Amino acid sequence: MIYDINSIRSYFPILGRSVYGKPLVYLDNAATSQTPRPVVDRIDEMYYAHKANVHRGVHCLSQEATDAMELGREAARRFINAPSTDEVIFTRGTTEGLNLVASSYGQLLEPGDEVILTVMEHHSNIVPWQLLASRRGIVIKVVPCLSDGSLDLDAYRELFTDRTRVVSVCHASNVLGTVNPVAQMSRIAHEHGAVICIDGAQGVPHIRVDVQAIGCDFYIFSSHKMYGPTGVGILYGRRELLDRMPPYQGGGEMIGHVSFDGTTWAELPYKFEAGTPDYVGAAAFTRAVEWIDSIGIDAIAAHEHKLLEHTTRRMIDEIDGIRIFGSAPGKCAVISFLIDRAHHYDTGMLLDKLGFAVRTGHHCAQPLMQSLGIEGTVRASFAAYNTIDEADRFIDALKRIAPLLDA
Ligand SMILES: *Cc1c(COP(=O)(O)O)cnc(C)c1O
Repeated sequence: MIYDINSIRSYFPILGRSVYGKPLVYLDNAATSQTPRPVVDRIDEMYYAHKANVHRGVHCLSQEATDAMELGREAARRFINAPSTDEVIFTRGTTEGLNLVASSYGQLLEPGDEVILTVMEHHSNIVPWQLLASRRGIVIKVVPCLSDGSLDLDAYRELFTDRTRVVSVCHASNVLGTVNPVAQMSRIAHEHGAVICIDGAQGVPHIRVDVQAIGCDFYIFSSHKMYGPTGVGILYGRRELLDRMPPYQGGGEMIGHVSFDGTTWAELPYKFEAGTPDYVGAAAFTRAVEWIDSIGIDAIAAHEHKLLEHTTRRMIDEIDGIRIFGSAPGKCAVISFLIDRAHHYDTGMLLDKLGFAVRTGHHCAQPLMQSLGIEGTVRASFAAYNTIDEADRFIDALKRIAPLLDA
């Protein structure tokens, strides 16, 4: 099967627009990806024809909205090969999923218990654990990186003690592109009696994910980074753990029976879904999974890999003074870089004026920046719809602006 890039792009009207009179080249996919028509159409359809609160009404519309949301849950289950939809919880995004695990599973931890994180984590996989540390006196340990941006697995092994209870690690780094060996890390965590939580925000858009093959305890991601609507995230957790965990928030939907003498919790997954969920987003999420499946995640990954190789090679060969951060084997299509001593912000601003959307700054990974001895980078990140021609124009733009940055 050929990779029909024109057909793929035709699903995204936004890719046809211009900025400052220049054609848009969208290279900020690690922050959020664009949304194909079937997803947007489904949002419209839900608002125009099926809007009603879920799991509550006896009426037809409420049933339709409930069914649409539950199809989204099944699509999520299938997408990551979770054993059961009872183990698939809707959240607002990766950040909320990580806070849920740190807060709720965190209540099962004792002062002095240890949590292992890595230096390449996004702030949303650091700060919730720090909040827990200040509440419950747990201890945080950090796995360092090797010089190519891959994780130091020997250091990881050495961090375990008889107090290690949790490992929380990103599947792929949003800065370095490093894909962590999460199956191996899960085995090691389990050998030490710890659970492992995976921040999959940069995993699901680029890598085929099978939570059973990985063997992880929690896997968390955001819909908006995988062509879905914003405001929706998924938390997969093993039933046995979710059953033991206290609710994260209280409210409607999550209860069995409420009285002032005591309240019981709803069954999984509803125990962790307090209040009216984003059922429109959950319904539209189904279309994002179907859209990815219609192309194939492996075909998308292969295409992005070609873009990554091509762009990286041309950057190294043709841009004087370029520094690329992260060259781990098998990295995903994220290129963080600096040109000479130029400030990342200036580079990003000049690129913007030429129509290129890139991200600049610390990318919510300040500890990683600190370990690299820099304040920030420029980051170009690819998705299914980017083209080799866009990559070439990006290189040409960098060549044009590099002399301006030298001053
Ligand atoms: C984007 C991102 C997050 C946070 O996701 P939200 O959708 O903003 O909640 C967490 N971890 C990584 C690696 C990310 O790239």
